[in-house]
Amino acid sequence: MKKIGIIGSGIAGMSAAIHLRAAGNEVTIFEANDYPGGKLTAFEQDGYRFDAGPSLFTMPQLLDEIFEVAGKSARDYYDYTKIDPGCHYFWEDGVEFHAPGEADRFASQAAETFGVDKKKVKKYIEDSFQLYDITEDVFLKNSLHKASTYLKLSTAKSFAQLYKAHLFSTMNQVNERKLGHPKLIQFFNRYATYNGSNPYSAPGTLTVVPTLEFRWGTFLPKGGMHEITQSLFRLSKDIGIDFRFAEKVERVTTSNKVATGIVTSKGEYDFETIVSNMDVIPTYHRLLPDHPIPGRVDKQERSSSALIFYWGIEEEFRQLGLHNIFWSEKYKKEFSLLFEEKKISNDPTVYVNITSKHEKSDAPKGCENWFVMVNAPHVAGQDWRRIEKETRKIVLEKLSRMLGTNIEALIKTERVLNPPTIESQTSSYLGSLYGTSSNDRMAAFLRHPNFTSKIKNLYFCGGSVHPGGGIPLCLLSGKIVGDLAS
Ligand SMILES: Cc1cc2nc3c(=O)[nH]c(=O)nc-3n(C[C@H](O)[C@H](O)[C@H](O)COP(=O)(O)OP(=O)(O)OC[C@H]3O[C@@H](n4cnc5c(N)ncnc54)[C@H](O)[C@@H]3O)c2cc1C
Repeated sequence: MKKIGIIGSGIAGMSAAIHLRAAGNEVTIFEANDYPGGKLTAFEQDGYRFDAGPSLFTMPQLLDEIFEVAGKSARDYYDYTKIDPGCHYFWEDGVEFHAPGEADRFASQAAETFGVDKKKVKKYIEDSFQLYDITEDVFLKNSLHKASTYLKLSTAKSFAQLYKAHLFSTMNQVNERKLGHPKLIQFFNRYATYNGSNPYSAPGTLTVVPTLEFRWGTFLPKGGMHEITQSLFRLSKDIGIDFRFAEKVERVTTSNKVATGIVTSKGEYDFETIVSNMDVIPTYHRLLPDHPIPGRVDKQERSSSALIFYWGIEEEFRQLGLHNIFWSEKYKKEFSLLFEEKKISNDPTVYVNITSKHEKSDAPKGCENWFVMVNAPHVAGQDWRRIEKETRKIVLEKLSRMLGTNIEALIKTERVLNPPTIESQTSSYLGSLYGTSSNDRMAAFLRHPNFTSKIKNLYFCGGSVHPGGGIPLCLLSGKIVGDLAS
């Protein structure tokens, strides 16, 4: 049994903690905030409940597995509902597409709506499944930085097939080649945003992302997304993980290149193993100032961030569902502004999430809780007050135009989350949602490993390290650390 200290109670930190505790270790989590979950949190305001961060839940089997590892039944802790149609899409020219969550029905509906060959769409999704099967073992389930990974037969098989992974074309190029219809290309390009990337520069390998939705579906936990955090927290407490809230870690202590303990705002602690769930760049900058950040890790492009308006809306919109997208007409420009000029488009794609469609208690009767998000650049010296004001006006005009009603007049309560606040609330470097972007074909290899060869007994989990950001990958990073550090 080892004495293990974990820095941060994000979902990856709790995933790592549960795996390590299940392996018989004594685990303490130090959390700077006075609540668990990091980005995956929630709040209530004037009778409305809002999930503050993630809204899309895929691959629930990865969450279930964490309960099983701890010898518990997931259904005793949380449950979820399958969402179908998965998402509702609206274009300015009046075209609507209510995307079925299953491949065959999706292909039929896409063929009908866009006038394309159903077989072409089906084949695109099947290719995505195949790509997932090729890449899962190498890029998701194991450490990319341990020789043992490369000695496995499954890894060798994956590598032999990597030529099918479209590493040398962009996602948009692959989609243009395979799909042929502008709206369908735009539809599948958006999957690059699932890890904060740009479809016009990210490799075609990201055409793997639709597999998450079309093979397994999209889900909403009963009680909302925050139940993911709450259920992991309940499990952690039940199996004896110790939490120290409002106790920010200030330093990781080392001796002869071995991590030996941590210094917090409240004291000093010795540990045999330390896991940082804090973004890896501030982990080095602030907690390990005497240890240079390895190689090119802080030179990699950051993922996008987000600007979110939480609006309590005093009306119900029958044409909307849980997930809704109102497309930009200048989609490519939206991404060059985000990644090259670090600006928000004046015609942004607007995402509206409404959990009260399924969770009636999330809004007063006859009302809805709108989480309205646009992609935003990471923090780069912008004037966010001005951007917030301008973007709010643009978003309200767009939604009012496309829904045929004055949305501003329906707002009963409001809150805003911007990239600097994301950074200050969770220590995510420059407010990025998903650590580094996948805009480079080498991104998966350049992402920081789950350990460092420079400091023994120090491990890393979470969206800024391997295998990357988003709920499924963060849960997997905790599992990988569980395997490496046990
Ligand atoms: C607005 C938004 C929308 C998103 N949408 C989706 C989505 O729909 N689907 C999806 O899958 N993903 C989505 N994501 C991404 C997802 O939320 C993240 O990838 C994931 O939650 C990151 O978890 P994590 O464990 O890596 O870290 P975090 O959630 O960032 O947690 C890190 C924790 O460490 C703590 N910490 C940091 N420094 C210290 C310190 N020095 N001492 C102690 N504690 C410290 C922080 O307070 C925090 O609690 C979204 C993110 C945001 C912000």
